[in-house]
Formats: sequence, structure tokens, C-alpha cells
Amino acid sequence: MTRNSVVFMALIVQKYGGTSVGNTDRIKNVARRVAEYRKRGDQLVVVVSAMSGVTDGLIKLAKDIAPLPSEREMDMLLATGEQQTIALTAIALHALGIPAVSLTGAQAGIVTDGVHTKAKIHNITPKQVHELLNAGNVVIVAGFQGETPEGQITTLGRGGSDLTAIALAAALKADLCQIYTDVDGVYTADPRIVPGAKKLEEISYDEMLELASLGAKVMQSRSVEFAKKFGVVFEVRSSLNDNPGTIVKAETKSMEGVMVRGISLDKNQAKVTLVAVPDQPGVAARIFKAIGDANVNVDMIVQNVSHGSGAPATDLSFTVDKPDLLKARKVIDGLKSQIGYKEAIADEKIGKLSIVGVGMKSHTGVAGKMFDVLAREGVNIDMISTSEIKISVVIELSKGESAMRAVHGAFLGA
Ligand code: ASP
Ligand code: MG
Repeated sequence: MTRNSVVFMALIVQKYGGTSVGNTDRIKNVARRVAEYRKRGDQLVVVVSAMSGVTDGLIKLAKDIAPLPSEREMDMLLATGEQQTIALTAIALHALGIPAVSLTGAQAGIVTDGVHTKAKIHNITPKQVHELLNAGNVVIVAGFQGETPEGQITTLGRGGSDLTAIALAAALKADLCQIYTDVDGVYTADPRIVPGAKKLEEISYDEMLELASLGAKVMQSRSVEFAKKFGVVFEVRSSLNDNPGTIVKAETKSMEGVMVRGISLDKNQAKVTLVAVPDQPGVAARIFKAIGDANVNVDMIVQNVSHGSGAPATDLSFTVDKPDLLKARKVIDGLKSQIGYKEAIADEKIGKLSIVGVGMKSHTGVAGKMFDVLAREGVNIDMISTSEIKISVVIELSKGESAMRAVHGAFLGA
């Protein structure tokens, strides 16, 4: 490929997260990394987050003044975090003698809808980015932000710098997209819980999405969905060493050879059980409509077979995010006289253990093997749910970590 009449020059989009630019030494470290790629003749677009803690600090300032600040003003405020980092990164590159120019999201041509604090990208017209690259600059772009067609500043939701990088890589048709963070890549499990966890060489978009939504937060989920939709292959790697990271890409045939890619444990769920709910059409609809209206997100739902003959009743359990438990209880208590269940029991001491892998589509016996390991560990299974590439069980929280190690040992090695 030819760009600027230099042969084999690659266009690389790199994104550095908050910890990678957490202080001035870290920013100088980023500048040194960028300088090395540049020496090889690559063109670089560098997306940066706010320095770690800055976005949280700004939110706190606003909430000290008013509990529910205007979302337009929150965007105005939060966008300043990334704006500090782009300028500092450009200054660090200048100190190394490298021409670099920083751009806000708007200047980089990132146009969004008008939904403040969680705007969606509509399109990107990176005219200035191209011009500056062609003039020999490293271009530094503020992550997490854009502009409406009317010129209002917007932000893309927490963790949105990942989305900026992936979307820019797609718009610029970059040869490579690297997401730099403070871990070496995506692991088979959280290494702090499972010492034998291994770094993955590759993972499919769908596996990455399942693991992220199951609480293994490496990247913003929306950015992975975007990458899947536009076929952006990217690498998650550390800014603190030179180890190769994990490549995230579309599923390949060879990926199906592995039954389980990763395991996650979500400790942030709570379970609600309604005992003896009348088994009639419309009851579940009424319950979950009311919970949805209260903006409570429901994850797993299990309904038992009906018991009793005269007026059949059933037990109904579901899980919600722990912080939403009180809200859910209120809704449920409010429905009691209308629906007429016997009692509601809430349990916060649960964990959701999940195994994920595209190989499950073509292997049998995966669930049986997982349940067998749990049985041998003396772990009782409370709820089960499955998808094509995932099996999740709700178990007692206190046994979550040891169960995770045992299941990891059985599928992925100790
Ligand atoms: N600074 C923003 C946040 O903390 C965006 C990001 O870091 O990706 O959520
Ligand atoms: Mg982040």
C-alpha cells in the first residue's frame, strides 16, 4: 500500500486509557511509544482518555452543587477532561521533536446525535485528521466526545474513548487499531482470582461482548459492538510493556476448536424470588412491565412448573443489578395486593458464574461438565441460563471464587 508516496507505511490508530495517561510521566511514556512507531514510518492517530480519576472528579464537583445537573452542562464539563490530555500529549511529543497537533472530537469531524451524556456517533468526516497526517503530523484526538450537527458538545457514555478509537479506525480505514490499557490483554479469567488464568491470543467479538456484559470489563461494550458491525480488528495490550496483546476479531473456524474461551464471575447481582405467584396469563407481563417502567434491568428469569391443582401457583425468581434491588423491591411490594403472591424474598449474597466460548455451538456435554465440577465442589446451583455461546449459573456468593477456580481448572487448566 502506498500513502504519501512512502511504501509500506501503515496508518495506526492507538488509544490510551486513563491509567496510561494518569500522570505526566505516563504521558511522556505514551509519547515515547508513539515516537517509536513513527520512526518506523507509520502514520499515527492517537486517541486519549482523561487522566485517571479526572472524569469522576468532575462528576463529583457537579453533584456537590446539584444532585441532578443538566446533561448538556455535564457534557460541557466532562469534555474538558480529555481536552487536557490531548494538549499534554501533543506537548510531550513536541518535547521529543515530533510534530503533533491535538484535536477535539468536533475538530476531528465526529458528529453525534443530541442525546447528552450518551450520544451515538452519526458519522465521521475526518478532513482535518487527513490534512494534518498528510502534512507529517501525529494527530491526537480527544476520546469520548463529539458534536451535534448544530455544534453542541456531546459525550459518548462512560468508557467512550474506546468507541472514539474504533470509530476513527473504521472511518480512516486504518491498518491497525491498538487499545492500550493497564493489563496485558484479555485473560481466560480475572488473574487476581484465578492464578492460572492465561492471556488469550485472540477472541471473537461475540465472546468479548459476553465477557464484558458479564462483568469482565476490559472495554466499553458499545465499542465492541461497533467494531463487530464495521469489521474493525483491534488489539488490546498494555502501555507499560511490549508484550503482544489479545486480537479481537470476527469468529474463525479454528476458534470453534476451543470449548470455553473465558470464565467470569459477576458479584453485582441480587436475586428476588416471588413465592406462589398465581399461574395465569398476564401475571409475568404485569410484573416485568412494572419493573421495566422503573428502569430496573432484569438479567435472568426462572419460573418453576406450576404446583397445586385448584388455583395453580408457581415460584418466580429473577436477578437485578445489586444497586437496583431496593427499587425492584418497592415495585414488587406495590404489586402484592394486585397479583396476590405469597411472599417476596431478596438475596444479595449470590454470584453469577459464566463460561463463554463459540466452541459450545459445536461441542456437546459442556453444561454437564460444568455442573459436575460444581457438584464435586459442593456448590448448589440456584438458577441456570444459557445462550448459544454461554452458560451462566447463579450460586452462593461465598463459594463464587473457589467455584471459578475449579471450573477454570477443568476447562482451561490450573
Ligand atoms: N473519561 C471518560 C470516562 O472516564 C471516557 C473514557 O475514559 O473512555 O468514562
Ligand atoms: Mg476506559
